[in-house]
Amino acid sequence: MNEAPSVRLLELMGEWERAEAEVLSCLGEWDRAGTWGEDGACTPVAWLTNRAPVTKGDAVRLIRAARLAGDHDRTGKALAAGDIKSAHVHVLARAVRHREDQYPDHEDVLIDAATEHEPEWFRHLARQWRAIADDVAAGAEAEKQFEHRRFHCSATFGGTVVGDFELDPEGGAIVLAALEARDQPDPVTEGDLGRSRSQRWADNFVEIMAEDLERPPPGGRVPHTVDLVVDADTLAGTPPSDLGAARCELDLVGPVAPETARRLACDAAIGRVVTQGRSEILDLGRRTRLVSRAQRRALARRDRGCGFPGCDRPHWWCDAHHIVHWIRGGGTDLDNLILLCRRHHVLSHEGGWKLERAPDGTITAVPP
Ligand SMILES: [Zn+2]
Ligand SMILES: [Zn+2]
Repeated sequence: MNEAPSVRLLELMGEWERAEAEVLSCLGEWDRAGTWGEDGACTPVAWLTNRAPVTKGDAVRLIRAARLAGDHDRTGKALAAGDIKSAHVHVLARAVRHREDQYPDHEDVLIDAATEHEPEWFRHLARQWRAIADDVAAGAEAEKQFEHRRFHCSATFGGTVVGDFELDPEGGAIVLAALEARDQPDPVTEGDLGRSRSQRWADNFVEIMAEDLERPPPGGRVPHTVDLVVDADTLAGTPPSDLGAARCELDLVGPVAPETARRLACDAAIGRVVTQGRSEILDLGRRTRLVSRAQRRALARRDRGCGFPGCDRPHWWCDAHHIVHWIRGGGTDLDNLILLCRRHHVLSHEGGWKLERAPDGTITAVPP
């Protein structure tokens, strides 16, 4: 192993740290003396942003840290002596905002902790200090955080659903715990690194919501369902002759690709309504009418998990896929069914892969 680059990197970062400590000390004096005003700048941040290679955000951070170290004797001395690093001072500067009055009384405790701990752990300790240093201020902030909670989620023109949210600590902790509870890295196999963490979290989130929809709602209300409405011609792949009669859409989201409709009609936790013409409903089914519980159990026994060659996702993550789609005359019988994980089910429909089963049961996947 070549260790030289690592040694060099640490050396450079040591020099960087010494330089930053000096920058903070110099910046503090320059700021106190008001030197920046001599050039006609309105604020030290404006002066720095115009003349030094920093963004406005960097300049603000530097000035705050420099002021903290300059205004408090022990903090400044600890930084100059190298007992604490500039990263500690940046953490402190963040933590003391709106706690400025408390800092002098707590400076010793904080600097002792900074001397003892690495910046990352010290960040945790400083956040803790901030939460308990001023009961009243912390309470007001917590109230504001709760007031600011929001959750946006909507369908885009292209059919994906996007959103963003901000939660107070309690709500956030519940959401993180629920997503984390079902998180499990996928096994890494040759040529397949498994899903990324954010893909897994997306799947976990959808699973939690799907389970919630399956639960009977309180007060005997009618359960919510998500339906796919598709006309028979579109499902069969025939181009529409009357756009007004053609339908291929999911509740709340709108139009989806015909192949997505075929996948969802294969076997999914989504209801399906197949129409003909403008108003005739040909078929109204839920998943039990497609693949029976007994068939599902038999498939779990036979395939144990995803039947795509080389995939080892367990059966409880799988949909039952019709090798020949029922819309093209394939039967809902074990010979024509195979379990596929969501990813391989998508590959076998939207991805254009074709699965073939040999008489001995071997499955081959043919790329598009
Ligand atoms: Zn399918
Ligand atoms: Zn699979």
